[in-house]
Amino acid sequence: MSLYCDRTEPLHYTPERQAELLANYARVQEQIRAAESDHSAVRTADSPAVQLLTVTKFFPASDAAALYDAGVRLYGENRDQEAGPKAAALAAMEDPNAPARWEFIGQLQTNKAKSVVRYAHAVQSVDRASLADALAKAYTNQLSRYEAGEAPAPAAHATGNRLDCLIQVSLAEQATAGHAAEGARGGTSSDELLALAERIESSPVLRCAGIMAVAPLGEDPNAAFERLWALAQVLRAEHPGALEISAGMSGDMEAAIRWGSTSVRVGSAMMGARSYT
Ligand SMILES: *Cc1c(COP(=O)(O)O)cnc(C)c1O
Repeated sequence: MSLYCDRTEPLHYTPERQAELLANYARVQEQIRAAESDHSAVRTADSPAVQLLTVTKFFPASDAAALYDAGVRLYGENRDQEAGPKAAALAAMEDPNAPARWEFIGQLQTNKAKSVVRYAHAVQSVDRASLADALAKAYTNQLSRYEAGEAPAPAAHATGNRLDCLIQVSLAEQATAGHAAEGARGGTSSDELLALAERIESSPVLRCAGIMAVAPLGEDPNAAFERLWALAQVLRAEHPGALEISAGMSGDMEAAIRWGSTSVRVGSAMMGARSYT
């Protein structure tokens, strides 16, 4: 909060709201730390600490700012039209030495790639070759315009000059994989995992950083995340740098962490209940 009053366009939040968010943040971190010490499945004492991606969808940029001022740097959004302005609003008040990192986690149409590469440091929801190609093209175009002095750099330029891509896989049964059927919740089929990783890695501006999934509705998340762990091993065998496993949300983060999640995406437990999903 120290620099709050000196900033040109401060995002206003009340001390009450910040206190509420910080209490949630402390509770979620405690939950994560406790789950990390559960070694009943694939975690060991050597497993990496689990990252917390705060999902700010449906909540204002001022909430992101309240968390930023308390040290939170990692944010997730699932809709481009909401994420772009929010990331820009936060960027205007950031300490340039401690920028926020935005990861895109939602279903993405190829025509939105151009917008997403401006603010997103990673796209966790790459589920098809055409999307990987669109992101690569958008990134390359943005970079050329930046080099010509016509536009800001793509967000990932500052952190390695490659856009981190996670492959979103469907953990639903074969019949519904790849479709928006209830229970499937998006993602590519496991058969296409390696081909898609190849496609991503063949681009000089993309990096395959790992795998992401949402547990299907109506199934024990432990069983689903165990399948995700197996798929992550298949991916790592071919792409040793693809170490991330993005799994676990407010309701199932313990199960996901037990089964090797390296990054949980937490919305409602951090922000409060959303008025709609
Ligand atoms: C909204 C969302 C989350 C967070 O969900 P909560 O249940 O609110 O924690 C995680 N992942 C994705 C892909 C989402 O769209």
